[in-house]
Amino acid sequence: MPELNGSDASGADQSALDGAPGQAGGPGMRLVILGKQGAGKGTQAERLAQFAGVPRISTGDMFRTAVRSGSRWGRQAAAFMDAGELVPDDVVVGMVTERLAQDDVQKRGFVLDGFPRSVAQAEALDRIADPELVISLEVPTEMVLNRLAGRRTCEVCGANYGPDNPPGDDSICDVCGGKVVQREDDTEAAISRRLEVYEERTAPLVAWYLASDRLAAVDGTGTPDLVTKRLQRAIETRLR
Ligand code: AMP
Repeated sequence: MPELNGSDASGADQSALDGAPGQAGGPGMRLVILGKQGAGKGTQAERLAQFAGVPRISTGDMFRTAVRSGSRWGRQAAAFMDAGELVPDDVVVGMVTERLAQDDVQKRGFVLDGFPRSVAQAEALDRIADPELVISLEVPTEMVLNRLAGRRTCEVCGANYGPDNPPGDDSICDVCGGKVVQREDDTEAAISRRLEVYEERTAPLVAWYLASDRLAAVDGTGTPDLVTKRLQRAIETRLR
């Protein structure tokens, strides 16, 4: 199976991610990626979205953009984000409902990254869009703590960097030329609170989706390319 990564997206064999519009596993796929902060969801969601030709929808990125622009969603979310708490369900569901109603999603589907994060959000998502596959990206807590402490993020496009993959030019993003910074909620206190919140509010979704036979658990350790291959295999197995 060929390597999947963002930079070779156009040329590589798409394998499980090929298909006629609307066909499960190809364009038209409706996928959710669950996982702790630092599990690699963002990177993997971006790769899968590129390959399948569907939009990646990251609620964290949407909120950060909204905070920067001072929009309604941003004003409602900022204090919760800084404290490492979840933004209230009704706010997130309102924002996601608006996004999922847009044309690109209606035509192609989505890869959701960072939503749902509570059972109430998962119930709302079933009413709006009914995901066909939910991947739980599994990484031990000690590993994500290390990754998050060294993580740097582009404040424009959200690309992530770390000690093993720094940007080529110091603090300039390789992807878009934006500034690469430490996220305000990647402080030690906010990280440990976000992981607690994950266990309390989001981890129960694994059993919740398992009960409706939509869950695939995927090992998120190892290099990003290795993880992408495992994801590709899981999608192929479940959706074909
Ligand atoms: P992330 O980049 O996905 O870690 O999200 C950053 C922050 O945005 C989180 O710590 C929450 O404060 C907020 N957030 C993102 N997605 C959600 C969601 N689905 N529900 C509630 N809060 C969210």
